[in-house]
Order: sequence, then structure tokens, then C-alpha cells
Amino acid sequence: MKIILLGPPGSGKGTVADHIEKEFHLKHISTGALLREEVAKGTTIGKDIQKIIEKGELVPDDLSIQIMRLEIGNKKDYLLDGFPRTVNQAQKIEDLEVNHIIYLEIAEKEVIERLSGRRVCATGEHNYHVQYLPPKKEGKCDVDGTKLIQRKDDDPKVIKERFRVYNRQTAPVVEYYRKKDILKIVDAAQKPEKVYGEVRKVLNHF
Ligand code: AMP
Repeated sequence: MKIILLGPPGSGKGTVADHIEKEFHLKHISTGALLREEVAKGTTIGKDIQKIIEKGELVPDDLSIQIMRLEIGNKKDYLLDGFPRTVNQAQKIEDLEVNHIIYLEIAEKEVIERLSGRRVCATGEHNYHVQYLPPKKEGKCDVDGTKLIQRKDDDPKVIKERFRVYNRQTAPVVEYYRKKDILKIVDAAQKPEKVYGEVRKVLNHF
């Protein structure tokens, strides 16, 4: 099964993807995580990527498509998180025939609070929230024990820019899939366990 998880910044894509990966054994492929890995390597391209991410903008389509395709390789089952983010990206992966699209719907004002309270572990793989999804031990990742940090792009000014970019470039992707009639909408304003409960129902009907 191939799935695309869409939603604005802070809609809970990463958390939902972690659950799906565990329960449905689908490889979770997050372009954001892949790009942050490149940044961590400190390469020239990594430094360019870092500047773009810290401004809340999108990296060029060619780069995100390349990085994604490399990770997909010849896998048959996977879950794409944070991709596609432009209609051009969506068109360029038509050949992959991903026919299951889940859209985590939530209003902008609801997610500002979520993003400013979000913390991630040092590996960048596991997400928490100081209020809504705290770790068992304060400041430490439940899964790998690394220190929890705040992403630079979760700064309120950058969050605003990420929304501007989302509304301009990524919201049309939702319409693109809606027109193809392959979009399943989940209300992402509910508690995390409820959101995942609905996602699970959708997945079991695919
Ligand atoms: P995320 O972890 O999905 O919130 O992504 C963090 C940042 O990585 C985004 O704000 C973008 O700067 C960049 N990014 C992630 N996925 C893409 C993509 N598909 N196209 C362009 N930029 C991306």
C-alpha cells in the first residue's frame, strides 16, 4: 500500500505517520526528516537547505523529488509525509500511482499553539508536545532517550511564513487530489488518539 499524508504544518502528520508505520508496517518517508539529515551532515548543499528551512520556505522541487525518489528506491509499500508540497511535485510522481491520500484538516489558529509547544528528539524522528503529548521523562525521548529540542522553524515568525507558503503552494495540492476523488479527510483538531483512530478506520477501508 502507498499512502500520502497531507496537512498544514502542525496538523500531526509526523505523529500519525509514526503510528501507521508501527501498526501497518509501512515505511515512513518524510522529506522534512531527509532534508534535516542532509543539514546535519554539514555538506554545502546541507547548508543551503538549512537556510531555506529556517526561513520557512520550500526547497526547490527538483531537489525534494530527487531526495524522495532515492529513499523510495524500489519499495512497494510506503507512506509519504510532507510530500508532495506543490502541484508540480504531485504531477511529477504520478508514475508512482499513489492512490490513497489522507488529508489531516485543521484551522491555522488551532495549530499555532501546537507548533510552539512541539518538541522533537535529537534524531528528529519522534515528536512530542509539552502539553498534549509529553514524554514519560521530561526533556527525554521515550523511544531513544535523546534530548528533546525545539525545531528552529517552530519559532512563531517562521511558523507564520510556513503557513503563508502552505496556503499559496500546498493547499492547491489538496484540491488537485480532491478533484481526482482520491482524498480522504480526517478532522485533525481532535485529540491525537482520536485522530489516529479515524486514520486507522480510513486505512482499514482501503
Ligand atoms: P516538515 O518536517 O515536513 O515540516 O518539513 C520541514 C521543512 O522541510 C519544510 O518547511 C520545507 O522547508 C522543507 N520540505 C519538506 N518537504 C518538502 C517538500 N516536499 N518540498 C519542498 N520543501 C520541503
